[in-house]
Amino acid sequence: MRVLVWFILGGLLACQSPKSQPPPPSPKPAPVPARPASVREAPPAYDSLYRTLADTAWVELIKWDPTFVLDIKYATTDNFTKQVLYDCGRCFLRKRVAQDLVAAHAQVKKQGYRMKIFDGYRPLAVQWKMWNATPSKSYVANPRKGSMHNRGGAVDLTLVDAQGQELDMGSPFDFFGKQAHLNYPHPAKVLANRKVLQTAMKAHHFNTISNEWWHFSHQKVYAVSDFPIPCQ
Ligand SMILES: [Zn+2]
Repeated sequence: MRVLVWFILGGLLACQSPKSQPPPPSPKPAPVPARPASVREAPPAYDSLYRTLADTAWVELIKWDPTFVLDIKYATTDNFTKQVLYDCGRCFLRKRVAQDLVAAHAQVKKQGYRMKIFDGYRPLAVQWKMWNATPSKSYVANPRKGSMHNRGGAVDLTLVDAQGQELDMGSPFDFFGKQAHLNYPHPAKVLANRKVLQTAMKAHHFNTISNEWWHFSHQKVYAVSDFPIPCQ
């Protein structure tokens, strides 16, 4: 019950005061069930709880569906800035965005794949660090406007196969060149891999952008936030 109260309170506050949103609550949740042998059969861990929240509430993706693979690059030095930008490698999203992503994940799991998440919510302070770290401004959203990641409305991801190997998408994540563009003439296999991801995401209210195959923005736009990624 304490968990439910925290999340509902978070959702209400997010609705009423979008410019001063609280950090996502950090209750002591019930243990997440261990992943079963078949990921296709994995029940969404927090499905019944999260579905009752306001669309604007913050939720942690892996608690809703523990079959996602997390590889949050900005919590490591393995990113274009070569700096650790997040305190912890966790993925938070607005409830409606997470709900649609869980549904898109279910679709690709039926095809034998899983989604690997590189980034979700990104604090505005980190957006400024990225903006100042790159000369290639076309690949980083202007922090004066705020990116969809700052709003909890975007996700960067790829697909992995049954062995956990990333599918060939034609370039690494955060590759700032033409090979990352959606219209680059890659071999048919690469285009087919991208198509699996894009088809599932578009079917669940996400849009692509032209120069980053890994980026998907939800069709709903929320307020910019700037709380640090919590570690507890
Ligand atoms: Zn992105």
